[in-house]
Amino acid sequence: MKPLAIFGGTFDPVHLGHLCVAWEASELLDAEVLMMPSGIPPHRPPPIAGANQRVAMLQVALREQSRLVLDARELTRSGPSYTVDTMIELRAEQGDRPLVLLLGADAFAGLPGWRGWRQLFALAHIGVLSRPGEQLGLPDVLKDEADPRWVDDPAALRSLPSGKLIALSVTPLEISATRIRELIAAGRQPRYQLPSGLFDDPDLLAPYRR
Ligand code: ATP
Repeated sequence: MKPLAIFGGTFDPVHLGHLCVAWEASELLDAEVLMMPSGIPPHRPPPIAGANQRVAMLQVALREQSRLVLDARELTRSGPSYTVDTMIELRAEQGDRPLVLLLGADAFAGLPGWRGWRQLFALAHIGVLSRPGEQLGLPDVLKDEADPRWVDDPAALRSLPSGKLIALSVTPLEISATRIRELIAAGRQPRYQLPSGLFDDPDLLAPYRR
């Protein structure tokens, strides 16, 4: 069965770095990818743009293609949004369909700090987005859990709903939302780092202007 992948982030704002890796992961896995903006992130300061504003930017960014799809469920949840809760919900909706949680290599290395992290393997596969040839430095507790789970072939994810790990070699772009916010606040216009549609409507990037 075609997997359903999940790419979460604050998307404050969504930029070409996010879209490029999500797209490549979608191609490598032959999966649809849910772009899932986080509500109140437990691990970081709150976003500058509000939930509706981040959704509006994602809607514009995701036009004219169908591999990457907006899923705003975490924005409607009150309190901090934990990935494990979202995965429990998705599992209930999707039956035995393979789910693949996409995580950057850094986020994956920090997984033991996440609520219910071991349970995540019972709910989904994990796709670790890595630079070509990148070596992952993993803490021992994660290595023990991870070692028996690695597979090389995306086809191995299609026959099981959850529990495997795959490194997805993608093209990371040197684009950061923090830097984009700084540039906009300084009166600059970071074209070619953001989907061009975000410049068509002056309201979309207004939250970052001073
Ligand atoms: P900030 O600068 O606000 O921290 P961010 O883009 O790093 O922004 P998120 O919007 O939460 O943060 O990112 C969502 C996911 O996208 C994270 O897993 C992050 O590692 C990944 N990501 C961010 N920028 C890039 C990039 N340029 N290339 C590949 N992946 C990226």
